[in-house]
Amino acid sequence: MRPLALFSTDLDVMAVTASVPNRPVVRVPVVEFGAPDASAPMRLSVLGATGSIGKSTLDLVGRAPDRFEIVALTAQSNARELAVLARRHRARLAVIGDDAQLAELRDGLAGTGIRAAAGLEALIEAALMPADCVMAAIVGAAGLRPTFAAASCGARIALANKECLVSAGHVFTAEIARSGAELLPVDSEHSAAFQALSGADPKAIEKIVLTASGGPFRTWAREALEAATPEQALKHPNWSMGAKVTIDSATLMNKGLELIEAFHLFPVPAEALDCVIHPQSIVHCLVSYVDGSVLAQMASPDMRTPIAVALAWPKRMAAPTEKLDLARLGSLTFEAPDEVRFPALGVARAALRRGDTAPAVLNAANEVAVKAFLDRRLKFLDIAALVEATIEEAERQGAICQAHGLDDILHIDGLARRLAVEKLNGY
Ligand code: NDP
Repeated sequence: MRPLALFSTDLDVMAVTASVPNRPVVRVPVVEFGAPDASAPMRLSVLGATGSIGKSTLDLVGRAPDRFEIVALTAQSNARELAVLARRHRARLAVIGDDAQLAELRDGLAGTGIRAAAGLEALIEAALMPADCVMAAIVGAAGLRPTFAAASCGARIALANKECLVSAGHVFTAEIARSGAELLPVDSEHSAAFQALSGADPKAIEKIVLTASGGPFRTWAREALEAATPEQALKHPNWSMGAKVTIDSATLMNKGLELIEAFHLFPVPAEALDCVIHPQSIVHCLVSYVDGSVLAQMASPDMRTPIAVALAWPKRMAAPTEKLDLARLGSLTFEAPDEVRFPALGVARAALRRGDTAPAVLNAANEVAVKAFLDRRLKFLDIAALVEATIEEAERQGAICQAHGLDDILHIDGLARRLAVEKLNGY
C-alpha cells in the first residue's frame, strides 16, 4: 500500500491529474524503513517538540524507546522544556528558534553532549539532519521553511503543520513529488480519510466529509458569540490542543483550513469535499463511494492515534488512547454546520474556490486575527470579518495570483499580515 498514492493504476493517476488541473499528484514509494517494529530503530526528528503534537509524539516514543532514535528536537522559546525533552530522549541536536533563549538551552543541556543551537538557520539544519521520519509540528506559517527543508530530503514527513498545505499546497506537494518523500497526514480527519481511502480508485470516490466537533460555541446564539471571550473559546469540549488551533476550532476556521488541506492531499475536486458537525468527535471522516458505501474511521479524540498511524504506517503501533466503547457512548449525532453563526467556514471555502494565493492570504490574516482576539483587540465574530476583508484587499492589490515557489508564498504571507494589521486598526 502506498501512502498518499491512493490510486489503483497509473492510468488512474493520469485521469485524476487531468481532471484537477494545476494540482500535482503526490506519489510516493512503498518504503517501510524504520517502521517501529522493524529491526533498526526509526530515526525521528520532531519540529515543534514542546507543543501539543510534539509532546504527544514524544509520549509515544517514550513508551517504545527501543523503536526510535531521536535525532533533533526544536522549539521556539520554551528552552527549559526543550532541554528536558532532549535529555529524556537523548536527542543529538536541540534547536531553539529564539536566539535569546540559547544560553538557557545550553545550561539545560550541560554535560549531556547534546548539541544546542538557535535561530531559523539552525531550525532548518535540524530539519535537514538525516532521519527516517520528521514530525512537522511547528504551529503556523513559521513552520513553512523548516518543513520544506525536511521535505526536500525525501524522508517521511508526518505532517501536523497545516500551513504547508493551506498556504503553499501546490508548491509543497510538488516538492514532495520531486524529492520522493512520503507525506503522511497527522491531522485526525486527514489521517482518517487516508485510512478510509487506502487502495481506493479515485474514480470511485464520491465525497470526503470531514467531521467537526463544533467547538465550545456550537449551541451559542449569534448575539452571545458577539461577547465570547478567549477563556471561553479556549475551552474545547473534546480535544486538548495548542491555543491557535483551539481558537480556529471555535470559529470553525479550522474546518475550512482542513478542507483546503484535504484538497491538496486527496484526489478529488473541491466540490467533493464537505464537513459535518459531530459533537462527540468519534467519527473523524467519512468517505462515500459510488456504490453507496460509506467508510468512516472512528477513534477516541486523542491525537496519539493519528500520530501513531503516521509514525508506523503501513504497520500499526500501540497507542495508549482510550478504547472505544460504543455501547457506553450510546449515540453518535451529526448536524449541518451553521455558516451564519460561524462565517469563517464560508470564508475559507471561498478561498479554496478562488485558489492561487487566496488560501495563503486567508491563513496569514487568520493568524493575525486569532492573535488579536487572544490579546483582546478583536471580537470573536470579527475574526472572520477581518480575514475576509484582508482577502478582498489582497485581491484589489493583485496579490491573489499564482505562486511559483516558497519565496512567493512567504512574500504574499508577509503582505497579507501587513494588510490584516492595517485592517485591525479599524476595529
Ligand atoms: P502548539 O502551539 O502546542 O506548539 C507549537 C510548537 O511550535 C511548539 O513547540 C512551539 O515552541 C513551536 N513554535 C511556535 N512558534 C514557532 C516559531 N516561530 N518557530 C519555530 N517553532 C515555533 O501547537 P500544536 O501542537 O497544537 O499544533 C502544531 C501544528 O499542528 C499546528 O499547525 C496545528 O494546526 C496542527 N494540528 C494540531 C492539532 C492538535 O491537536 N494540537 C491537531 C491537528 C493539527 P514553544 O513551545 O517554544 O513556543
